[in-house]
Amino acid sequence: MTDFTATRAMFHLPDGIIYLDGNSLGPLPIGAREKARQVLDDEWGEMLITGWNRAGWMALPQQLGARIARLIGAEADNVMVGDTLSTRLYQALAAALAMTDRKIVLTDHGNFPSDLYMAQGLLDTLGQGHQLRVVAPEDVAANLTDDVAALMLTQIDYRTGRMHDMVALSAAAQACGTVTVWDLAHSAGAVQVDLAGANADFAVGCTYKYLNAGPGAPAFIYVAPRHADTAHTLLNGWLGHAEPFAFEPTYRPGPGITRMRVGTPAIIQMRMLEAAMDVWDLVDMADVRAQSVALCDRFIAGVEATCPALALASPRDAAQRGSQVSFRFANGYAAMQALIARGLIGDFRAPDIMRFGFTPLYIGPDDVDAAVAIIADVMATRAWDAPQFHTRHAVT
Ligand SMILES: *Cc1c(COP(=O)(O)O)cnc(C)c1O
Repeated sequence: MTDFTATRAMFHLPDGIIYLDGNSLGPLPIGAREKARQVLDDEWGEMLITGWNRAGWMALPQQLGARIARLIGAEADNVMVGDTLSTRLYQALAAALAMTDRKIVLTDHGNFPSDLYMAQGLLDTLGQGHQLRVVAPEDVAANLTDDVAALMLTQIDYRTGRMHDMVALSAAAQACGTVTVWDLAHSAGAVQVDLAGANADFAVGCTYKYLNAGPGAPAFIYVAPRHADTAHTLLNGWLGHAEPFAFEPTYRPGPGITRMRVGTPAIIQMRMLEAAMDVWDLVDMADVRAQSVALCDRFIAGVEATCPALALASPRDAAQRGSQVSFRFANGYAAMQALIARGLIGDFRAPDIMRFGFTPLYIGPDDVDAAVAIIADVMATRAWDAPQFHTRHAVT
């Protein structure tokens, strides 16, 4: 059994704050402080450029990928860390489209805008008549026809927490010859994922949300072993070359997942990810999922019992929900500002979604009860209806 008291002690959580926003930016793992000191003073400071060899910097993207692999049911050698999620999605979709002559990319309108934008940009650039078919989330399966090149889905909806059935949709896609690209932004570290078991083709995700590696921490990409030695790379950076230090004038992709490397890895941020993975290494995802379901169910019951004005926007059935709970409220932006002023941090997503993330590594039932009490009071007293809570900030 995972010891959640022990994992909680491994995070810095500011006094007086209940943090239900780890689905957007995870908190600071305490071990990151010593890692930061080491990478700055002992490595960069003392070793200078020799750190690439002496401190093992060059191996970090794949080593970290192997540690993330366990959390997403991937084969250890098939995950590469680096770059941003938007970039990785672009790369994975391009690799998927290079495997087929079909022209349709199927996705749903619950997908995160950056994923839709990146796909639009790629399809325009290819100039081969590709089309993005955007359907309602519940209509995805019905639209999986044998002209679909790639099924590009974010497994868990960032607004509502609605979760696609990855196993069923991957099987359906495979049956009609469609390549799958899964975005695990709200899945990795949130729910149990079995990429290998689902026979997924490509997957991408980020490490600054549930994985807690810090603002702007690098993304990851997964390529199924059956494609790893042939996958199109699109971004032919020198570190994906078979022999980067031969400095050949022509690109030759490296073996397996190494071809998905692009440029120089962000070593300082990767050391932060390492500190975050030191916590994850102590954790069983089955325990995380069970505790997450318990916390979310407790939160829904508490809010519904006390706040009639808030309408549940997430699936009630835990099996169809990720690790977040959202409520609709017309004054959701102001209400969230009022909650934040009282130390309860969640976030707001336009037009009317109040979103709360549940992260068992450092959030327990007592936090849920305290959060419900704050929400109930803010709603009952209409504390949100004060002018200062209606001013919009740049980041919501
Ligand atoms: C958070 C998120 C992103 C953000 O992409 P970045 O390149 O890391 O800014 C993209 N897609 C989804 C589905 C997300 O949830």
